Formats: sequence, C-alpha cells, structure tokens
Amino acid sequence: MIAVVGSLNLDLVAPVPHHPVPGETVLGGDIAQHPGGKGANQAVAAARLGGDVAFVGRVGEDDAADVMLGAVRQEGVDTTHITRTPDVATGRALIAVDPAGENTIIVSPGANGRLGAADCEDAAALLQRAAVTVLQQEVPDEANHAAARLAGGIVLHNPAPAVAGAVPPPHVDVLVPNRTELAALSGTRVPETIEDVVAAARKLTGAGAVIVTLGGDGVLLLEGTAHLHVPAFRVHPVDTTAAGDSFCGALAVALAEGRTLEQSARWACAAAAISTTRAGAQPSLARRDEVEAFLAR
Ligand code: ADP
Repeated sequence: MIAVVGSLNLDLVAPVPHHPVPGETVLGGDIAQHPGGKGANQAVAAARLGGDVAFVGRVGEDDAADVMLGAVRQEGVDTTHITRTPDVATGRALIAVDPAGENTIIVSPGANGRLGAADCEDAAALLQRAAVTVLQQEVPDEANHAAARLAGGIVLHNPAPAVAGAVPPPHVDVLVPNRTELAALSGTRVPETIEDVVAAARKLTGAGAVIVTLGGDGVLLLEGTAHLHVPAFRVHPVDTTAAGDSFCGALAVALAEGRTLEQSARWACAAAAISTTRAGAQPSLARRDEVEAFLAR
C-alpha cells in the first residue's frame, strides 16, 4: 500500500491576453476548473498505475472539497484520512495562461495549510503499514516530518515546490527534486550539466538516495558514492505539466512492488514520458497497460 501525505488543490485556469502588472486589471477568457495539487496528482498517478493508494490530507467544507474528493475517489484512492476542515477553503491554484503558454500561478493553500502532525498521528497505523509514504512541499513541514517519522516503509520526498525555508524531513529514503529544487536544497545555482547535477546532489545529506529529474534529459540517480544517468524516453511532448508528479507516483508504485531503485526510475521515466504527450495534469497521467505497451514497443 502507498500512503500519500499532501495537498489537494482545485486549479482554476484563466486564459489572459497578457499577464497583469501590479494595479492592472486584465479581462481574461472563460475559467476552466481541474483537480490538482501535487499530493492529489501523485496519488492519482500511482492509483492509475495499479497502486493501492491511501491519502492523508485536508480539504474545506466547500464545493471544491467535493470536486477534489470525487476526483481521487474515482481513481480508487482511499480518502478515509482526508479531513473536512471548517472555516477554511479547500486549496486552490489560480493559474493565468497567456497566448505563448507562459503561466503565472498563485497557490492558496487553504485547508492544506492546516495539515499537521496530529493528522499523521491519526493515520499512524496506515503510515506504519505503507510500503511507501510519499511527501511533497505543499503542506506544512510539521506534517511531513511527522509522516516521515511514523512511516514503516520507504519514505519518498518530492521537495516541490521549492519553497524558501522549507526543511525536508530528516529521515528520507529517496529524495526526488528537479533541477530548481536541487539548487534550492543544495544552495547552488541551477545545475546545467550532469557533472553540475552530481556535484549539487552530493551536497545533500540525510537522504538514502537522490533522484534528480531532468525533464527531457531523464534522471540522475545518486546512491552513496555511485551515480547513474537514466536518459528520458524519446517522445513528442505537448504539455509537461505534472511530469514530475507522474514520475513520483510511478516511482512509488514500482518501489512498493519491490523493484530496485534503478528499475523503478526507468519505469517511472516511461510513465512520465507518456504523460508529457497529453494535455493537462490528472487527465495526462498514464495507466499501467499504457506503460507496459510503451516499454514493449
Ligand atoms: P518537473 O515537472 O517536476 O519539473 P521534470 O520536468 O524533471 O519534472 O520531469 C519529470 C520526468 O518526466 C523526467 O525525469 C522525465 O523522465 C520525464 N520527462 C519530462 N519531460 C520530458 C520530455 N520532454 N521527454 C521525455 N520525458 C520527459
């Protein structure tokens, strides 16, 4: 079983002719609404790949909560440990997209910001049982630290987004940053070459293994003094939104099934590559049969 401790956000996406500057009002197009949030995306990614997934999180008592709970339940995710919280809105992301596809995003954590150590303690039996516990950085550090402490299996932490001052839990088995998040954690500039990535990843201590996701360049795996570059699968990407979430969800499934780190990273690269060939976040996430067919090409 896989436990995901994290965020659920309703994404509100508005097309804009250009991004507003301070003080400016811009008339945008029609709003589209999609389930999102890194926690929810990673839970859906894992469930769609055949993972048995349970979620620890918080939503408000509003309509957005129903949308978010419906979205994860529809994929078979166990929502017993998602708590409805009075007097606070469900997390939302306000996303403006200009004609060039550039976006600006405001995340309002809402109920996600209320997730604390007590929520993880309430879910202690679940976390103890989980083969893999998956964390990100859209909920308070306090919740992540408690979850990592209570987890009985592998702790996978995706330190995203790169929040200034966020402190990853001290007990992490697999840390999965992208280049920007690696720079934030290691205090270096964003590494460009593989050598730069290796040097920055070596600065991270306290994680058993580090897997740096490198977009179209695949991933860099670092365990002890050894490192290995796993190239990306060649695809024609149309939208890389949630590629990292797709990778983390898939990695959790493979690790929970007892595959090695290297096997799991390759499998997750396949799932993530598929997700880049489709638009959107959750709609783009791959099913297990698609990954198997992709690898058998
Ligand atoms: P994030 O979305 O967190 O920034 P990345 O962009 O590093 O994460 O992407 C995560 C993973 O998705 C990569 O390690 C890779 O396996 C896959 N991926 C991303 N972009 C591409 C691409 N253009 N072609 C193939 N695979 C990709």
